[in-house]
Amino acid sequence: MTAQDYIRSYYAATANDQTRYPVLEGTVKADVCIVGGGFSGVAAALTLAERGRSVVLLEANRIGWGASGRNGGQMIGGISGEEAIKRQLGSAGAKLVRDMRYRGHQIIEERVAKYNIACDLAYGWMEVAARPKHMDHMRAYVEGRMKDGDGDQIEVVEKHRMPEVLGTESYYGGYIDRRSGHVHPLNLCRGEAAAAASLGVEIFEGTKVVNLSGGAKPWVQTERGRVEAGTVIIGGEIFEKFGQPGLKGLMLPAGSYIIATEPLTGSETASVDPQNLAVADSNVVLDYFRMSADRRMLFGGRCNYTNRDPKDIAAVMHPRMVQVFPQLKNARVEFKWGGTIAIVVNRVPAVGRLSPNLYYFQGYSGHGVNATHIMAEIVSDAICGTTEQFDLMSRIKHIRLPLSDVFGNYMLALGMLYYRMRDLM
Ligand SMILES: Cc1cc2nc3c(=O)[nH]c(=O)nc-3n(C[C@H](O)[C@H](O)[C@H](O)COP(=O)(O)OP(=O)(O)OC[C@H]3O[C@@H](n4cnc5c(N)ncnc54)[C@H](O)[C@@H]3O)c2cc1C
Repeated sequence: MTAQDYIRSYYAATANDQTRYPVLEGTVKADVCIVGGGFSGVAAALTLAERGRSVVLLEANRIGWGASGRNGGQMIGGISGEEAIKRQLGSAGAKLVRDMRYRGHQIIEERVAKYNIACDLAYGWMEVAARPKHMDHMRAYVEGRMKDGDGDQIEVVEKHRMPEVLGTESYYGGYIDRRSGHVHPLNLCRGEAAAAASLGVEIFEGTKVVNLSGGAKPWVQTERGRVEAGTVIIGGEIFEKFGQPGLKGLMLPAGSYIIATEPLTGSETASVDPQNLAVADSNVVLDYFRMSADRRMLFGGRCNYTNRDPKDIAAVMHPRMVQVFPQLKNARVEFKWGGTIAIVVNRVPAVGRLSPNLYYFQGYSGHGVNATHIMAEIVSDAICGTTEQFDLMSRIKHIRLPLSDVFGNYMLALGMLYYRMRDLM
């Protein structure tokens, strides 16, 4: 297999750090070997290195090549699947959900400050109601959060107040979470990787893992090398199973696509997103958007329900952006790209141990900027001997789709179509 460079995207075009890490040749040893150089793998590598472990990180392409370097950059509080966690784990689940809510944000903030990572971190995130009835759920959600003591960071915005917040008539209100926000994800991921390397983590790019094993003497085989480690982590949304039956049927791949306009003028920016909020709508098959630091509109969503990449992303996404913001009809699209979201049926990230000394965590259902950092910490804690949160997360029962390798995309396409119909009704 040939390692791939970054796809053309706004993020790759504005990456601060161009370091190329070497390809692994021969055999190396470490306390922990991590497969995958996205947020999951990089965040775990940095956490473990900060705790004094020797770490080898193996990335098939480039650091942040996958979803981590392509996403909407929305740093959203909480994780997906919170209701399922509470349902399955009761009061322990409710506490876990509260404890995790902003933990990913804290980790990101601490690292941005400590390692001086320039990644355009900005605050303010909003979920907007795509249907009037979605406001009922949002009001109840905000009320619950106020009971949890989060009242100073979260507020309902009723429809009549929307013009203060966003320059669109597409939505029926929403709520703002001022503790959440947005980042340049590739710069964050590469910045964390550079921090990990500065602490001694050996990072290899262009190094595809072809096989691995846990047990008493874990090992990882790459195309041209091998790692012998005390512990192996399959870190992130990696669709290969490496012969591990425990990974079967957990994640389904779904495409999501983003366009970036040319930089907008100050008055155009003020007319669309005056508070610089990152925004997601309340549909299951949702649209999301935000302004980049250089004032481009980054507008994302799902382009089609067949689960095949569209031939021309801009031809589908530009009209959608103009539907929400007619004032942007003449804004030129300068970048268009897509990536793969890993959907888990109950939406809860899948975390566990496949055999002694072999861990995995993956499947954030489009909600991974903060959740990757939380799950990386939970797995790192377990490796270092603190297992409370890991035990809870690994107790969650997941619905596995037995024939997902064969029919996964068709099943997902059908599921998406169903949700799209529901969103429209
Ligand atoms: C278009 C898009 C928009 C999104 N928007 C948001 C958003 O706004 N907010 C949010 O919270 N989440 C968002 N997400 C989801 C979020 O990006 C992901 O959940 C998160 O980045 C997953 O990180 P990861 O490290 O687990 O996986 P990835 O970033 O995909 O990393 C996995 C890495 O493993 C490598 N790899 C694969 N196989 C092998 C192998 N055999 N050997 C070695 N390496 C291998 C890949 O090359 C890849 O770099 C979005 C996702 C997409 C695609």
